[in-house]
Amino acid sequence: MGATEASKDGDRRLGRRALLIGGAAAAVGTGVLARDELARLWWRTPGVEKPRKEGEVDYASARWVAASEANWRRADRPDDYGIDMVIIHVTQGSLASAVKAFQDPGHQAAAHYIVGRDGRVTQMIRELDVAYHAGNRDYNERSVGIEHEGFVDRPEDFTTAMYASSARLTARICARYDIPVDREHIIGHVEVPGTDHTDPGEHWDWDRYMKLVRRARTATA
Ligand SMILES: [Zn+2]
Repeated sequence: MGATEASKDGDRRLGRRALLIGGAAAAVGTGVLARDELARLWWRTPGVEKPRKEGEVDYASARWVAASEANWRRADRPDDYGIDMVIIHVTQGSLASAVKAFQDPGHQAAAHYIVGRDGRVTQMIRELDVAYHAGNRDYNERSVGIEHEGFVDRPEDFTTAMYASSARLTARICARYDIPVDREHIIGHVEVPGTDHTDPGEHWDWDRYMKLVRRARTATA
């Protein structure tokens, strides 16, 4: 679960594409733009952004529930930021409370997906966009975040259905961005540099999970 991540991620230094657009913005006489506005201009340029549809998901069997726009940053991944990592989280609460938190603009954190104890997948942020889930700007930009419903100290929360469903989702993400299926690229929130979070915790069965991801990845190859 993430906390106070927007503040850590909020350093909107100008990206490569923002600099390219900078000249054009000056030429049309819009005057002095806030760094923030400038950084967002590139995706408003026709033909630059990938087409999006309201309610569209990146994972076929996911249901879509939009997170508050305060909990993520618009991007155009993997073209502006490459994706080479999946980060595993545990919600420390129910699926409903996690959905509510991610819809709350004051929460300042959210992940792309939540997998329920029943294996159901909810997508709240597009993989195109940077979700504030890792508490580390670089890791947010390069990763897809998956939350799991439950508590780190309750191993019974990590159900067979959850492991299987999450593994299929992670395998699909790895296939999409050509991410190696190993523990260098599929990590826990606890492994993100600078984090004070412990999820997914000692009860998350990494051997079991990685075996399932490998199997699912082979099946989708
Ligand atoms: Zn977390």
